Formats: sequence, structure tokens, C-alpha cells
Amino acid sequence: MSENAVQLVVVGSIGIDTIETPFDRRESILGGSASYACATSALFTDVGMVGVVGADFLAEYEALYAQFGINLTGLQKKDGETFRWSGVYKDNMDDRDTLSTELNVLAEFSPTLPAAYRKAPYVFLANIGPDLQQHVIDQIEKPEFVAMDTMDLWINIQRDALIKVIGQVDLLTLNESEARRLSGEHFLPRAAECLLEMGPRYVLIKKGEHGSMLFSKEGIFVLPAFPLNRVVDPTGAGDAFAGGFMGALAAMREVDQDRIRSAMVNGSVVASFAVEAFGLDRLKTLTRDEIDTRAHAFREMMRVPEALTPA
Ligand code: AMP
Repeated sequence: MSENAVQLVVVGSIGIDTIETPFDRRESILGGSASYACATSALFTDVGMVGVVGADFLAEYEALYAQFGINLTGLQKKDGETFRWSGVYKDNMDDRDTLSTELNVLAEFSPTLPAAYRKAPYVFLANIGPDLQQHVIDQIEKPEFVAMDTMDLWINIQRDALIKVIGQVDLLTLNESEARRLSGEHFLPRAAECLLEMGPRYVLIKKGEHGSMLFSKEGIFVLPAFPLNRVVDPTGAGDAFAGGFMGALAAMREVDQDRIRSAMVNGSVVASFAVEAFGLDRLKTLTRDEIDTRAHAFREMMRVPEALTPA
């Protein structure tokens, strides 16, 4: 476990997932928004995890978190079963149906932050109920930058609580269908304008294999996704993106438009690795060298010369 001061606090779900794609299936593997976001952010900075697991949570999962270098002082263990989720992907490997969600210990979760986490300058509220996200915000002393994710479920059933949390963060990230649903607007620049009016300085819309878009008063930034020949398991891609993004940003110790753009490249690259295997499998062996090499190739793919005149 990392002994350095926690730079980034991440709260989110810790789940045991059963995932079916058109090509393969895995039963009871480690997942959850916090697992993906912590595993990826820990590649860049000292991250503290806030989450809850049940008595059935395997010691090897905890050992894996420690191997990633995640600080686990904020991980609660309760009697009962760990949160479970199962989903099946459609042929396009993007759309999916949720087959089951069992909240289990997540139903009674109260995220209490260890003292060492309360002074953390960066906070990522990964996908979890907005009431729990609020509880974490209330305990952080003076954060420099707070980002949050959400999902359609909370937009549908806890809209008011969600909008209240959005009003207190610096950056809101969500996928394009969620941005449309929450804003009631179809076109993304207009949807982002509505979301910015709710309070955050930045809105970062994830578009799966089509990349991501950043909206702020300073304008729009568009980033493609790193092109892959094959996706094995898209689960957690958004959480891996956000974790890589927040980890890289926290490592820069300052936030501005250029640093956010640069951190988005890290987020995209890390997410592209995450989907190459089921669950956290690819992230287990991922190195900074591999990230840097792919980030360099990615930047080369995006290099556009000014219009060239005839010689
Ligand atoms: P993503 O593919 O980014 O939507 O994230 C998938 C992860 O979200 C899975 O590992 C699930 O365990 C987790 N998850 C699914 N439903 C929920 C929920 N209602 N609240 C929190 N996490 C969830």
C-alpha cells in the first residue's frame, strides 16, 4: 500500500460482475466504478479508495488493489455480500442490457473518509448514488478540483439530488446518452451548455469508441478514441477513462485547459488498454512505458498540418 499522502480520493462502487459479450463470458469477476477508476488513477498518482465490500470479498482482490498501489484505509468491510452486477453486450460491443443489480452492502453504505483523505486536493466521485457522492463532498476540507461521473439510473430516480451535487463540482463527466437525458437536449454542444448552467466549469462527454468532448467557457475540445482492432470487454471503459484522466491531472498539481486536454489523452489511452481484456486483467500488467508509447502514437495520429500551399 502506498504510504505517500493521498492526492486523489475516489469514491464509487466495488462490484462482482458477470459479463457476457457476443464472443465470451466471465462470471463473478472484480469490477465496479471505483475498482476501474482507482486501478487507472494509481498509475499516475497516490490514490485513496472509498468503498464497501462484503464478507465474500476475496483476499486476492484486496491484494490486487494493493498491487496497484491503492491506499485502502477508506475501504470498508461489512457483513453481507458485495454489490453484484451482470450485463450482456449487444453485437456492437457498446450497447448493453443490465441483467441484474444486487446492491447488497452498498444499500447501507455510508462513505466515511479517513482523516488522511480529508485534505486530498483532488476528488473523483465515480458512479454511485448522488447522496453518497454528496456525503464525500461534505467531508473533504478544501479540495482544489472535484470531478464526478453518474449514470442513467440516477438521472431517472434521483434527479434532484444529482443536480445538487453537480452544482458543487468543477467537472461533470457522463456519456452522450446521459448528457442528452439530463439536459433534455439532443445536440451535444447545446446539451453541454445546459449542463454547464448547473454549475460545473467543465463538462466532459464520453462517446465510447467515438472519443470524448470537453466543454467550458473557453470553448470545445474534441478528442477521438484510440483506434483498436478488437475490444474484449467494454465494461468500465468510462471509469478507466475518468480514472486515468483524474490521476494524470492530480499528478500535474494544477488545472487549466491545456492540462485537462493532456490528461484526456492519458484517460483515453488507459481506457483503450482496459477494454483489451475482461475486468482489470489488462490493467494488472500495464506500465507507464506502455502508456507513454501509446500516447505518443495517439498524438501522432492527431497531428494536422496547416493547409499546405503549392511549392
Ligand atoms: P461502466 O461500463 O463504465 O458503466 O461501468 C461498469 C461498472 O459499473 C461495473 O463494473 C459495475 O459493477 C458498475 N455498476 C453497474 N451498475 C451500477 C450502479 N447502479 N451503481 C454503481 N455501479 C454500478
